[in-house]
Amino acid sequence: MKIKSVQPFILHLPLTSDSISDSTHSITHWGVVGTVIETTDGLKGYGFTGTHAHIASDRLITSCIRDCYAPLLIGEDANEHQRLWTKLARYPSLQWVGRGGITHLALAAVDVALWDLKAKKADVPLWSLLGGARTDRLEAYNTDIGWLSFSLEDLLAGSARAVEEEGFTRIKLKVGHDDPNIDVRRLEAVRKRLGPDVRIAIDGNGKWDLPTCQRFCERARDLDIYWFEEPLWYDDIAGHAALARSSTIPIALGEQLYTVDAFRAFISAGAVSYVQPDVTRLGGVTEYIQVADLALAHRLPVVPHAGEMSQVHVHLSYWHPASTILEYIPWIKDHFEEPSNVDGGIYRRPQQPGASTTVLKASFERYGKSLG
Ligand SMILES: [Mg+2]
Repeated sequence: MKIKSVQPFILHLPLTSDSISDSTHSITHWGVVGTVIETTDGLKGYGFTGTHAHIASDRLITSCIRDCYAPLLIGEDANEHQRLWTKLARYPSLQWVGRGGITHLALAAVDVALWDLKAKKADVPLWSLLGGARTDRLEAYNTDIGWLSFSLEDLLAGSARAVEEEGFTRIKLKVGHDDPNIDVRRLEAVRKRLGPDVRIAIDGNGKWDLPTCQRFCERARDLDIYWFEEPLWYDDIAGHAALARSSTIPIALGEQLYTVDAFRAFISAGAVSYVQPDVTRLGGVTEYIQVADLALAHRLPVVPHAGEMSQVHVHLSYWHPASTILEYIPWIKDHFEEPSNVDGGIYRRPQQPGASTTVLKASFERYGKSLG
């Protein structure tokens, strides 16, 4: 299974709303930026990272794949994912300019494509290649009903629809208004509408400072918040540890962390309860496994961030023993041969060989962008 070609691509896919916002970001499209790796035996592996569909920075990622990684990959044995991961991530000139950021997002795309190839070669879904499913019921939680840009009316209607019509028992709502009392009132209204049994997590996307978070947690303490995700700036280990000590609401984080080393630092500091690795920001499946194993060793639950909208994470969550539940955001699933669908709040377990990353030809044709 020698690597014959490495072709990057950029897709800008529309969301389920015209636009959405959290406390920090506003977007109209999701960027699927990745690569197709073809081997001498005719297989094609697809891998990608997730972006805000900003064409200039997307092209930095594809340029890294095309100009830096492809020459290191052509002619190599695609089976040897670990050796190739190290070859790319530790290539001296590339390590010099990035142990995170653009080079790591590009590495994620390559690594996911290699795992897709390995599973296709074995003719099994990725979860099976990795060792088999730990469960036949992977529960989903719905984030797409809880954006900060939604009015209270839409927030209540969407939450009720997800729970009462679609079968979700878990949802996640964004917080992070300049006045946190607005967030407390929105949460009180949703809790009142849905009752005590629905699990409600919240996500601050790193906007507030420590005293704001502490005041907010005090006011929200009776709302049975399942976790508070990214309450503080993404890299603030000491701040998250201080908040963890002062609040009874568990902290979740990890979607902005690039390396297993970063996760180790947060876990060692007691700064995180729910570990949220993302194959699209870590260096793909290979580094994700390291983080999930690290969480397992600390008896912490793993709840991946859906940077790839759970196309790959559904495999990893059905397989890895530290996994619990998985985020659901249905923006891009229908652009793949095997969509990551949810029925009655439960993820369908993928059945096709590979990592569920094969993009439909029609989606390439309609939403593909020039690499510049
Ligand atoms: Mg988040």
